Amino acid sequence: MYVCMRCGKNVELDEDFKKIRCPFCGYKVLMKKRSGAVKTVKAR
Ligand SMILES: [Zn+2]
Repeated sequence: MYVCMRCGKNVELDEDFKKIRCPFCGYKVLMKKRSGAVKTVKAR
């Protein structure tokens, strides 16, 4: 589970960072959301 850094929606993605992207707004910076651990993932 990820959260889009732009629109703030929850995004469900596989652990495939090559195509990580918000399906709602197309933004490519999503924040990983998992049991307290917060990590920012930037896709190329
Ligand atoms: Zn978004």
